[in-house]
Amino acid sequence: MAFDASVRRLDFPILERRVHDAPLVYLDSAASAQKPARVLAAVDTFYRQHYANVHRGAHTLSDEATSHYEAARARTARFLNAPSERSLVFVRNATEGINLVAHAWGRTALREGDEIVLTVAEHHANLVPWHLLAAERGVVIRGVPLGRDQRVDMDALADAIGPRTRLVTTFHVSNVLGLLNPIADIAALAHAAGALLLVDGAQAAPHLPVDVQALGADMYVFSGHKVGAPSGIGALWVREDLLRTWPPFLGGGEMIRSVELERSTYADIPMRFEAGTPAIAEAVGLHAALDYLDEVGLAAIWDHDRALARYAIERLRAVEGVRVYGPEGDDRGGIVPFNVEGVHPHDVASALDTFGVAVRAGHHCAQPLMRALGVQSTVRASFWLHTTRDDVDRLVEAVAEARAFFGAVA
Ligand code: PLP
Repeated sequence: MAFDASVRRLDFPILERRVHDAPLVYLDSAASAQKPARVLAAVDTFYRQHYANVHRGAHTLSDEATSHYEAARARTARFLNAPSERSLVFVRNATEGINLVAHAWGRTALREGDEIVLTVAEHHANLVPWHLLAAERGVVIRGVPLGRDQRVDMDALADAIGPRTRLVTTFHVSNVLGLLNPIADIAALAHAAGALLLVDGAQAAPHLPVDVQALGADMYVFSGHKVGAPSGIGALWVREDLLRTWPPFLGGGEMIRSVELERSTYADIPMRFEAGTPAIAEAVGLHAALDYLDEVGLAAIWDHDRALARYAIERLRAVEGVRVYGPEGDDRGGIVPFNVEGVHPHDVASALDTFGVAVRAGHHCAQPLMRALGVQSTVRASFWLHTTRDDVDRLVEAVAEARAFFGAVA
């Protein structure tokens, strides 16, 4: 069946809502995605019929809950085309996944003077954990700029990678520019220097097929709440041979083999990295969300996102005083940052809200990128599989109205 966003819309109960007496146009999927009905149903059924704590199989419900939880792990590994689920760790979100890598790998493997290469367009989640590590271990961070075409400057990236580089870490899709990074090329550069590659897939997993093996990633992380799953669950996949060598990140129940008063031994992977009671129903919701995305077809979603971004950029540019940021081309997904001349982005967003149009305004947790773009903040419209051309039209009309309104009072 051909992809049709107006049909997909019907999968999302919240999109029937009205906001300020207008039908909701939800253009903030990059911040967090709405949930398809089947995810809500899967979580509801799980709580009503199977819920108990996991991995404590003393009774039927615990066995069932464990089976559901582990099935979600296998499903998530398959979603990433990971070779196995053994090295798929459930975390709270992408942020926690990156922090896990910084702690479990970074604190043991890195020495003073070792280098981490990343780009100016990283989300703070892929900057701050490395800053903390740099302060503690004397690790050096090398930042790569964007080129004139507003894509990552691959020559500068190649130059930044040197004999002390131990890690290259970067986004798969930018949360501001919507830009698809050429990960396989970046992997080749990293590996030629003997460095590892961590990919921040928070904005890619909801929008395009991910194959960690084809990408050449050593580690890949994403958040459940952005793929239509509940918040509180995310995934970190790590090459199995690597993960096996890492010490735990958090300590507590579930992640141990045996505990004495003065010492503990630790469970095998992946349990070694899942201390305490995990996000059980959230994992079940993630399973349902990934089933949904695969059924709809991620390749079709990516085509839809890109076509909609082209349409939105063209229409927004036609509004006087609107400036759109980021590159144009086939590597641009459905995230469109823009500003309205003379109007603060927060005021634009508040005005759009009065028309029922939900967008984000701010620095988007990407302050270095904002500086590189020469702005403090932007408005950001972000699309997903339920976003239609009508939604984009409503956005553009609301932007024009907002501009006229603020122009009138200026
Ligand atoms: N990386 C990117 C590219 C993101 O867009 C985000 C969230 O917006 C994150 C990481 C952090 O995700 P979370 O807040 O779910 O941990």
